[in-house]
Amino acid sequence: MAEVVLRSVDKTFGSVRVIKSVDLHIADGEFCVFVGPSGCGKSTLLRLIAGLEEVTSGAVEIGGEDVTRLPPASRGIAMVFQSYALYPHMTVADNITFGLRTAGAEKADTARRLEHASKMLELDTLLDRKPAQLSGGQRQRVAIGRAIVRDPQVFLFDEPLSNLDAALRTQMRIEIGGLHKDLNTTMIYVTHDQVEAMTMADKIVVLRAGQVEQVGAPLDLYSRPANLFVAGFIGSPK
Ligand code: ADP
Ligand code: MG
Repeated sequence: MAEVVLRSVDKTFGSVRVIKSVDLHIADGEFCVFVGPSGCGKSTLLRLIAGLEEVTSGAVEIGGEDVTRLPPASRGIAMVFQSYALYPHMTVADNITFGLRTAGAEKADTARRLEHASKMLELDTLLDRKPAQLSGGQRQRVAIGRAIVRDPQVFLFDEPLSNLDAALRTQMRIEIGGLHKDLNTTMIYVTHDQVEAMTMADKIVVLRAGQVEQVGAPLDLYSRPANLFVAGFIGSPK
């Protein structure tokens, strides 16, 4: 069970309150998308779930456990960022397994996980390449591979496709959807792209200025937006 629950989560930077009393319940296995305009707090909320930022008040639960005070490595999560942050001097294989190796994982286990992830992402023939020898989509797959080998309970994605061109974005959207089906894990996906939100989500969380404006299935929000903000955001393609 890897549901994610936020209870009255607040985050203040200096004197600025950027997350305001957020309550959320993301079910086990759900594909949940956070949308909202730039600066509304999407990344901060994701980082609070990951433990990369500490909540100012409130609680974070993952898989029924209160993880509010636990470091990122103990939360059973893996995060895929917008900038791939691959190590340029390392091969694809070494990039994918870097986190496992630094955590002291067994060699045979590491090799098995690498094989599984690289087959799944069709990177198995590219394992000896360096990031500079890969396309944008392949690099993004390496970043996802790095998350998969950790076998997390929850995947967190922060605008993973925003650096890709339109055609590749569409393809990767389908691939991430397929991954969700295959792995059957909880995924939380941040985007400011309405099309991504509408096509990928089981549930959409619309954020505005650090608060949850509305939560619902894509069609619910589309046909019954709570207010003009949601209607404008979900209804108007960019
Ligand atoms: P989004 O991802 O939706 O674009 P962010 O979560 O990055 O928004 O940021 C939300 C707000 O919090 C913004 O006003 C941003 O400037 C502020 N913020 C984010 N991180 C920090 C930080 N480390 N220190 C100060 N302010 C921050
Ligand atoms: Mg962001």
